[in-house]
Amino acid sequence: GGGMSTLDVRDIRASHGQLVAAQGISFRVEAGRMLFLAGANGAGKTTLLRTIAGDHRQDGGTIRLSGVNVTDMPAHMRARAGLSLVPEGRRLFPQMTVRENLQLGASTSREGPWSVEAIYDAFPNLEKLDRSPAGKLSGGEQQAVAIGRALMGDPVAIMLDEVSLGLSPAAVELAYQALRKVRDAGIALLVVEQDLTRALACADELIVMCEGREMLRSLPGETTLDALVSASLGHGK
Ligand code: ATP
Repeated sequence: GGGMSTLDVRDIRASHGQLVAAQGISFRVEAGRMLFLAGANGAGKTTLLRTIAGDHRQDGGTIRLSGVNVTDMPAHMRARAGLSLVPEGRRLFPQMTVRENLQLGASTSREGPWSVEAIYDAFPNLEKLDRSPAGKLSGGEQQAVAIGRALMGDPVAIMLDEVSLGLSPAAVELAYQALRKVRDAGIALLVVEQDLTRALACADELIVMCEGREMLRSLPGETTLDALVSASLGHGK
């Protein structure tokens, strides 16, 4: 189906040589919703995100963005269509300033509500860092810049890999505050998070993967931490 501002993936399959890293993965994220993807190391989460972004070869399946089939588009065309990936480690340009890093995310083809000033309004802790080299920022601040950079492209959907990895508890809090604002701005969010407690607390819906497959799919109010742990270990389906 069509619909506005949705990321819709059907039956995605991807591999590394002989190893099938993701298979039969389907979901739909609506505007203003956060879908969490959890699972142990090696479950296939990163490969799935990179495949959806067009950075990894897709062996099967369909990807639609706001109803538009982007499956046959290369990564840069998917980005232009409104699909944004914030990779693990964030990959900012450390010598460039916060403002310059944000400006690099600006889309040349899509004109949206997000300017550097709008980002500073949404994430007030960034404004004072405007001229700081991104490499000098804390992990949490860098995560906020990476999210801001994604917003500058006026995305339909943002996918984030390992949001809280390597961040202090306070920085994780800041990153999630930022994500809630992004969600409330009407963007579809797909969040990879290894911290199951966090996923349970923040998700609108969550999927646990194990060995490339969906092990569990639930609304947070309808599952438990034990069930998530068990699914990530491959039990329960
Ligand atoms: P992590 O949290 O460690 O990133 P993940 O859930 O994101 O785990 P992937 O990184 O997608 O999982 O890995 C899925 C499977 O694919 C694993 O078995 C992994 O060893 C394998 N894999 C990942 N990248 C490569 C690669 N470049 N070459 C070969 N195998 C790979």
